Amino acid sequence: MSGPNTNYDPVEPAALDPRTIDEAVASALSAVAEAGSLEELKALRPTHTGDRSPLALANREIGALPPSAKAEAGKRVGQARGRVSQAFAARQVELEAERDERVLAQETQDLTVRVARRPVGARHPVSLVSERVEDIFVSMGWEIAEGPEIESEWLNFDALNIGPDHPARQEADTFYVAPTGSGLVLRTHTSPVQVRTMLDREPPIYVLCPGKTFRTDDLDATHTPVFHQFEGLVVAEGITMAHLRGTLDAFVQRLFGDGIVTRLRPNYFPFTEPSAEIDCQCWICRGQDPSCRSCGGTGWIELGGSGMVNRRVLRSAGIDPDRYTGFAFGLGIERSLMLRHGIGDMHDIVEGDVRFSRQFGMEI
Ligand SMILES: [Zn+2]
Repeated sequence: MSGPNTNYDPVEPAALDPRTIDEAVASALSAVAEAGSLEELKALRPTHTGDRSPLALANREIGALPPSAKAEAGKRVGQARGRVSQAFAARQVELEAERDERVLAQETQDLTVRVARRPVGARHPVSLVSERVEDIFVSMGWEIAEGPEIESEWLNFDALNIGPDHPARQEADTFYVAPTGSGLVLRTHTSPVQVRTMLDREPPIYVLCPGKTFRTDDLDATHTPVFHQFEGLVVAEGITMAHLRGTLDAFVQRLFGDGIVTRLRPNYFPFTEPSAEIDCQCWICRGQDPSCRSCGGTGWIELGGSGMVNRRVLRSAGIDPDRYTGFAFGLGIERSLMLRHGIGDMHDIVEGDVRFSRQFGMEI
């Protein structure tokens, strides 16, 4: 026999009790309101909207109700579930907005904050000294002359009275340009620029010739195969050794300080006659400190060579030695730098480490 379940208990199941449902809604709403983050809100969902939540259980019970009670219970549970899911959705929107605002605030960039700048480079001290020396001579009315680094043997040697048997022509000192017999060398001094100038024009001549020069030395603490020189040349009527001396004194005072003087010591160079080594008074101790490291306590620092231009050199360059006389001098820049700044190792000058160059300041 079949038929309606006449044993049905008309009392509603506990899960559908209106009070139970109201309590479930109230508990869900207060929990949602207290959720402080999207993560907390997410963690609440199984408890209040999951399969085992009170409202899901109540929903499941509706099926067991008699048809007359289903509609009302369904409406009640549906409204309750709607309120809870709306509360979740609304809180979700609020919390997302809060998160976005927080992220925006954290990612704000303060454009007034100081930042570390990309480090600037530095000018090499060889360039700084060269330019300072050039400025001194230009301010005295001299001109700057430059020439090629690959030079003819004639200009580098013969025109300067350096004969074929002179030690400076030995291959041990000079870079010869291949092939053998090409007649070309890497210039061993900037003197060929002086010869070029004399060949080019008539006296009076006042030129400074700065530039790179080359010798077959190995790089070590005191030598380098590529180094920098500046040579000066004056050719005019009536030039004497006194003009040389006065020019050198004016130069070292501008470079090293007032009151510094030079002294000349006799020497021999093929391109000048008479010839002299130039010593400069020690600008560190001015001869007052026997333990001075710059001058070794002697009070003098060797700067370079000088002299009156040899008559034979003038004649080679097409200048009448009976009418004109001249003086010349030459100084090494690396050597001056090492002495002036107490640099103990040539490698520091050659290697180009910006940390070395930066110590000399940013002179422009
Ligand atoms: Zn000294």
